[in-house]
Amino acid sequence: MVPIVLCLSMVSYGQDEFGRWFGSGTLRVDYLLAGDQENTDVYFLDMKKEPFWGGSHTNLVDTFRYGEFMLEVSDQESGTLIYSRGFCTLFNEWQTTAESKKMRKAFHQVALMPFPRNPVVFQLLRRSRTGEFQPVYKRKIDPSDMFIRKEPAMACDTTRVWYTGDPSVRLDIAFFGDGYTADEQDQFDADVKKYTENLFSIPPFDRLKHLINIWSVFVPSPESGTDIPGEGIYRQTTLNTTDYTFGLSRYITTTDMESLHDQAAAVPSDQLVILINSERYGGGGIFNHYASVTAGHPLSMIVMVHEFGHSFAGLGDEYYTSEVAYEDFYPLDVEPWEPNLTTLVDFDGKWKDMLDPGTPVPTPAEPRYEGVVGVYEGGGYVAKGVYRPFLDCRMHTNEAPGFCPVCRRAIERMVRFYSE
Ligand SMILES: [Zn+2]
Repeated sequence: MVPIVLCLSMVSYGQDEFGRWFGSGTLRVDYLLAGDQENTDVYFLDMKKEPFWGGSHTNLVDTFRYGEFMLEVSDQESGTLIYSRGFCTLFNEWQTTAESKKMRKAFHQVALMPFPRNPVVFQLLRRSRTGEFQPVYKRKIDPSDMFIRKEPAMACDTTRVWYTGDPSVRLDIAFFGDGYTADEQDQFDADVKKYTENLFSIPPFDRLKHLINIWSVFVPSPESGTDIPGEGIYRQTTLNTTDYTFGLSRYITTTDMESLHDQAAAVPSDQLVILINSERYGGGGIFNHYASVTAGHPLSMIVMVHEFGHSFAGLGDEYYTSEVAYEDFYPLDVEPWEPNLTTLVDFDGKWKDMLDPGTPVPTPAEPRYEGVVGVYEGGGYVAKGVYRPFLDCRMHTNEAPGFCPVCRRAIERMVRFYSE
């Protein structure tokens, strides 16, 4: 069973507790996630000290427990869990495609944590098909290890786009550009401004923007645009984004986490958003990994908000009629971890507290339930067995006026987690 999110008490540390376990800066651990549909293997690559830690100093242990993976960092001597974070990757999405039945593949990953003072145990856990986290990798890390590289961050053009306070008590969102040449830097700056203003016009971000900082990082790309393999178009760009992820036109992502995090080290950040200089329709959003979106399509501002719903708040797709590359993404006998989807296996831990007493479960998709929080069948890429909370939502269609009340609550909880 997926842990009941709403009933967990917040595990939080004071500033003194943070200073007991952590110094300044970030420890970055690079590794490969490899395997096939049935197997997940981890190969260690490299470690580095980075200058900023943009995360909270009090909410260090992840109380949401969303995601397909969990990073856990424990003090080696006492065994105390001192940092954890749930996340998803393109690798686990690939593990639901038909290709993963036939071949093995590896994806570069980056794990970040505040730089530890003392030796720690670094552990990765993978969620099983039945929903529990199971260990897949463990190693000891000594912060005095001479192989932790201490190089200055990559030289990038950085901008404080919107600054409301110290990064440790703010949600820090960093924007990156891909496919913008040196001559197109003004366009990138204008796009970041446009996408920031749009995000801040959408509930609940509109009334939480005093808890958010926005940063931008610019590294010019040699060529303009992005790769479109289905049309034989390839562009040399700084973050190596590409359309046709898993063969699907509109799924525009990057597997180049090394380049993305080399740039990300230049600013304090909690969340990464890649703006792609293209007029195509598309993007992607992977929980605590990144959001990517083309900047030049008429629907791009809507898509960016949808993808950020995935990457920031762990929201699931409420749609079920569009083509996807996934097969059996949600086992129907397991409660999904996403806060806005349910299989009714463990609905008590979801939005049951937001239902009016008279609302039937499941709720018929009838006009009289327009604007009513309910339990509507269809979501998570399937028409049967997965339920969503609202007839329409930003996580359901591009036509929806905004996020539904359940998604808004999930977003607000996450903003507050980062800004305490
Ligand atoms: Zn929703």
